Amino acid sequence: MLRFLSAQPTLNLWLIFLLENLAVTALALLFGWIILRLNHNAIKQPSRNEIGICLLTNVINTAITYAGFWLWQQGYIVMNFTINWFIVIDFVALFMLMDLAMFIFHYAIHHSVVYKAIHRFHHHYTDPTPIDLFVLHPIETVGFGSLWLITIASLSFNFYSVLIYLTVNVFFGIMGHLGIEPFPHSIRRVIPFRYLGTSTFHHNHHLNIHYNYGFYTTIWDKIFKTYKG
Ligand SMILES: [Zn+2]
Ligand SMILES: [Zn+2]
Repeated sequence: MLRFLSAQPTLNLWLIFLLENLAVTALALLFGWIILRLNHNAIKQPSRNEIGICLLTNVINTAITYAGFWLWQQGYIVMNFTINWFIVIDFVALFMLMDLAMFIFHYAIHHSVVYKAIHRFHHHYTDPTPIDLFVLHPIETVGFGSLWLITIASLSFNFYSVLIYLTVNVFFGIMGHLGIEPFPHSIRRVIPFRYLGTSTFHHNHHLNIHYNYGFYTTIWDKIFKTYKG
């Protein structure tokens, strides 16, 4: 796949990455809407503004994807393509590293002027809907994209772990913005779910911005006493 991409002219690459990002967004929204339907919840029609911002986020993410590919071609991002146990190990490392990095940034954003200027945009609804995962201020999208590229450029990860991580990232993002909780309390109480960022976990952050700054796990919020279950 990467050999095919390497043979493409720049314009084709931009087009392929744009289509890939749009396809991921469409699948993510479809997944979210299916869960809402299965739980007999009405699907709120996204506004024109939300659709516009969602498309803008996709364009920015296309640029991030292109930058990542360019950095890999230039040797700044080094990846391993071997199928072995490192797929699991590297995935866990990426999952935990990004969770900690995003917790720190998210906490810092809420405790600075950046919140009013940029991040408040994402908090426009206290009850999020799936499309809100992509309704972010452009600067925030660039910020998270840069954080991601710096993380994968600073260490060498397995390529398949990166793919799995990106899929899991979208899954958690959609689950956090369902606006409902599909899992009963009895399941959320048991390990490992009590340490994972459920729909309720991120929904509570939208309801009260002083809690739950983590994304994938509840660990950092529990350590820093900002957890609200
Ligand atoms: Zn926030
Ligand atoms: Zn959110």
